[in-house]
Amino acid sequence: MKAMILKSITDLEQNNEPLVMTRVAEPVPSDHEILIKVSACGVCHTELDEIEGRTPPSFFPVIPGHQVIGVVVASGRKVKDLKKGDRVGVAWIFSSCGKCGYCLGGNENLCSEFKATGRDADGGYAEYMTVPEAFAFKIPEMFTDSQAAPLLCAGAVGYRSVRLTGLQNGQNLGLTGFGASGHIVLQIVKYQFPDSKIFVFARSENERAFALELGASWAGDSDYSPPELCDCIIDTTPVWKTIVDALKNLKSGGRLVINAIRKEETDKDYLLNIDYSSHLWMEKEIKSVANVTRYDVAKFLGIASEIPIIPEVQEYKLEEANIALTELKKRKIRGAKVLLPG
Ligand SMILES: [Zn+2]
Ligand SMILES: [Zn+2]
Repeated sequence: MKAMILKSITDLEQNNEPLVMTRVAEPVPSDHEILIKVSACGVCHTELDEIEGRTPPSFFPVIPGHQVIGVVVASGRKVKDLKKGDRVGVAWIFSSCGKCGYCLGGNENLCSEFKATGRDADGGYAEYMTVPEAFAFKIPEMFTDSQAAPLLCAGAVGYRSVRLTGLQNGQNLGLTGFGASGHIVLQIVKYQFPDSKIFVFARSENERAFALELGASWAGDSDYSPPELCDCIIDTTPVWKTIVDALKNLKSGGRLVINAIRKEETDKDYLLNIDYSSHLWMEKEIKSVANVTRYDVAKFLGIASEIPIIPEVQEYKLEEANIALTELKKRKIRGAKVLLPG
């Protein structure tokens, strides 16, 4: 089969062809796995983190891609529920041990044996992939393959970050950064917490205008003060300055949730501006979002179809994966980028 493979970590400033189109053997499903013919695979910022080594793959060469939509074409001997022809999705969570305290308590995202699709197991930048049956998701019919793919990552992780804020209806939520995940989070919050005000902090004027259009109560740059302090803030930026700014905009007892797999090192010095009494005192909390659970993915797919959230997408051939990744790196973004291997 055709696959775009990553052979080693590389610097995307120097190398705009990090992946290589290769013919590899079609994977064979083990007992509990299904074989999927991939029809769409989303391109995510986390792939940039993998390629540049901030969250490096556990083996090479690896096939990236963790927002996969396809159809079941074969099954292992012990597969029970899914059958040939079923349309399914695969998200960032590829597998976990199923036995530890985290797994048994519904926090399988924290399992020490957590495997990420496209990083610790081959992913969807290919014509076929395998996944354990228990980690494949049924996709609501209303979405096309391309529309459904981006929901599996930005959407599911965005949903988890909303859950982790502990927000109650009527409380104020701040959103720092307004990219793919921010749009979705805003829509989830408006749906689940209709009386809450949403304040969006974004550098770009276009993003701020878009946030207001989608129903934010206020939008401003990250060092502006919102009209009221926030009960919770979700940060989706790659930088540190926004963390310090956000802590200042929290109420007493407020919580900052950082939804970023890694922060960049460039402005780390800004953390020295933290002032204990104004940024942390009065029981302010900071919490990161790590990975996703199956509950988050399944629950979010349901919510997305009820609202509905229909992502705008830009489609590429599998062979064009390097173009899509380079554009993402340069922030040339018009909707979520999706590869079409089928
Ligand atoms: Zn992702
Ligand atoms: Zn476990």
